[in-house]
Order: sequence, then C-alpha cells, then structure tokens
Amino acid sequence: MKVSERIGVYLTTFQEKHAQSEARSAVNLLVFQLIYLVLISATIILTAIVNRGERLLFYMLLLGGLFIVIFFSLLLNLLGKYRAASWLTAPCMVIGPWLSILLDPTVLAGDFVPLIYVAMSIQLCSILLRERVTIIIAVLQLSAIIALIAVSPALRAINWPSLVTFIVFTSFIGVLYGFSSKRQMRQIEEQRNQLILDEAKLRALSVRDPLTGLYNRRYMEETFDREIQRAIRKQQPLSVIMADIDGFKTINDTVGHVLGDKTLMTVSAFLMKSIRASDVACRFGGDEFCLILPDCTLEEGIKRANTLRCALEGLGDSSGDGLEQFTLSFGVAAMPEDGMTREALIGAADSALYSSKRAGRNRVNGIRTHS
Ligand code: GH3
Ligand code: MG
Repeated sequence: MKVSERIGVYLTTFQEKHAQSEARSAVNLLVFQLIYLVLISATIILTAIVNRGERLLFYMLLLGGLFIVIFFSLLLNLLGKYRAASWLTAPCMVIGPWLSILLDPTVLAGDFVPLIYVAMSIQLCSILLRERVTIIIAVLQLSAIIALIAVSPALRAINWPSLVTFIVFTSFIGVLYGFSSKRQMRQIEEQRNQLILDEAKLRALSVRDPLTGLYNRRYMEETFDREIQRAIRKQQPLSVIMADIDGFKTINDTVGHVLGDKTLMTVSAFLMKSIRASDVACRFGGDEFCLILPDCTLEEGIKRANTLRCALEGLGDSSGDGLEQFTLSFGVAAMPEDGMTREALIGAADSALYSSKRAGRNRVNGIRTHS
C-alpha cells in the first residue's frame, strides 16, 4: 500500500473515533498539533544553539513544558477526545508567548522579538477557535502589548508604532484568512451533508414505487438474488408470495382511478406493516404484489398468505375512504421445493396465483400447477 493510501486509511479510522460533527475539526487539530510540535522542537534546537545560562534554562523549561502539554493534547485527540484536546491546545498558543514576554527580563529591557509571537498566536487562534473568541483574545493581547510599551521606557525607545502596526496587520491578515478558510470549510461540510441527504433521497426514489411506497421490481430482483444466496449459505428455507387484487379493472371502472389508486395504497400500507423486518414487500406491477420471506417454509408461507388474505378482505369497508370492498388472490412458492433461482420461484408463485384465480379468486394456492 502506498504511503498516501496508508495515511488515508489511518485518517478514516481516526475520524471514526470522533463524533461525526467534530471529525473534520479533529483532523485539522491533529495536523495543527503535529506542526506545532515540529516548530517547538526546531525552536528548542535553535534556543540551545543561541542562548546560554539562565536564559537557556528558562526557554528550555518553557518550550519543554509547551511540548509536553501539546503532546498530551495530541494523545487526547488520537483517543477521540477532540474537545479536551482543543481546550488544552488553544491556551498554549496564548500562554506560550506571554510567559516569554512577562518572565524574560530582556523583553522589558527592549528585546521586542517575543512580542511578534503574539501575532502568530492570534493567527493560530483564528484557525482553532470560534470567531468571537478569537476577536476577544486578539483585542486583549493587542491592548496588553500597548500597555507593556506604555510602562517600559526601553520599549518606548524603539520604533514601537511600526512594531505595533506590523503586529496588528499580520494578526489582521492571518485572522481574515483563518475566518475565510473556516467559512469555506463550513460551506464544504454543508454541501457534503446536503449531497449525502440528496443521495439517500435519490436512492429511495430509485428503489421505491412512487404511488405505493413499496419497493419496485428492480429492487426486488436484486434483493431476491441476494436472499436466495443467503438462504443457500445458511441452509434455510425461503418463501415468495405473489398477490393480485381480484377484479381490479372493475374497481377502477366503478369508482374511478383515484379510488383505484387509493385501493392500491391501502393494500400496500397494510402489507408493509404486516411483514417482518427481514421480509421484503414489492409492487410487482399494476395490481400485483410480491413478498419475499426469508427463513420461511412453504407451509408457513401459505399460512401467512392466508392470514393476509383474511385481513385484507375486510379492509375496503373499514378504510372510511369510500373504497369498494376488495379481495386478493395469492400464490406461494418456496425454496427448495419449487426451485433454487429467482425465475423458478417467481414462476412457481405466479402459477400458483393463476390457479387461485382460476379456482374462483380470494384464495391461497401453494401447489405449483402448470397450465
Ligand atoms: P383479476 O382478478 O384476474 O386480477 O382481474 P383484474 O381486473 O384485476 O385484472 P388485472 O389484474 O389484469 O388488472 C389490472 C388492472 O390494474 C389493469 C389496470 O388498469 C389497473 N392498474 C394498473 N396499474 C394501476 C394504477 O397504478 N392505478 C390504478 N388505478 N389502476 C391500475
Ligand atoms: Mg388483478
């Protein structure tokens, strides 16, 4: 596997540890923490080369402490605790430069360089924290810098207006960039969520019959093949019931197509709520329905078809929608008795249904009859 593929796999596993709403931010934080650790390490090396004595000890303690806290927060992030990790990382970005400013005596004596790091801390805040929090932190830090210059004659002696302008401008540009990239991320996230929703809707539309909400024939064919394979693997029986409304043409002619449609919807809703979660109910076409019943023998299938037939018989009258009374005829086939393929099972159930029709309708037939 290529390195990029390995990173992709790792990031997917990492995201799965976090809540869906935080997964993307957690990846950003992880990248940020890694960069931060590299930068602190580089600064430690540079400090060790440049500084001596107490100053060296102070910066080693400061940078070492920061490294440990960021490393700990990185571990928290890796364990899926994004919130705790970001609450630990964010203060480090502010506290780090200010410990250096307040505890290193050379700053008040005119060494202004640590002040510049404040701009960096504001930029980093804009990436990790919310806009309002970033603005408050930025205003507080810039005010503190101005106060520091006001109380330190050494700092006032340098070209401080230019220094403050530099810090304000770089902070401002960084914050603007941070906010706009965050907004873009939010937009991408929203669009992604919308796409997922649309895809789910499209999928539902492509597998469901629009009038009845039952699965359509295409979905039934795919599912049927899968269920047959599963039944063979688990050595379980499988039944299929074909059902057709009796004299539906006459119903349409008598009450009209609108009530005809309502009849189809009433039958479908009833079938949907009457089957088990593992069963699949489809509209086979016109007024014909197909039920796939995994782990159900021919005998059980016939029994269930009879229960459905009896319940459906009284549904027209009781619906309150002015529907004509209607009945359905049923044909049942099962695996292995009637075959081991979709075509064989549907053919057998259809033949059985045809027998029910010929025998007078409103009945169940489970014996294959060739005509
Ligand atoms: P049988 O007892 O032999 O089944 O008689 P039948 O009149 O029901 O005959 P058949 O099943 O062949 O008739 C199906 C009818 O269903 C024909 C068609 O006009 C009607 N139909 C098909 N789809 C729809 C639909 O979406 N809405 C309505 N209202 N009628 C439909
Ligand atoms: Mg019919």
